[in-house]
Amino acid sequence: MGWKDRLRQWWLRVRCPSEFLCDNCRYDHPSACKWPQRPNAIKCPDYRPKA
Ligand code: SF4
Repeated sequence: MGWKDRLRQWWLRVRCPSEFLCDNCRYDHPSACKWPQRPNAIKCPDYRPKA
């Protein structure tokens, strides 16, 4: 993982108020999210904060 990826992960963590990304993710819905780690993802490449 390069420093840009680490920086991005850190930034996503800072922006997420919950321990789990899914709690604050706009894709936190069975039909919107394809990841098996939902709803307890700690890292996710598709994570997008709710507005
Ligand atoms: S896209 Fe990632 S963070 Fe969002 S709900 Fe799915 S697993 Fe969770």
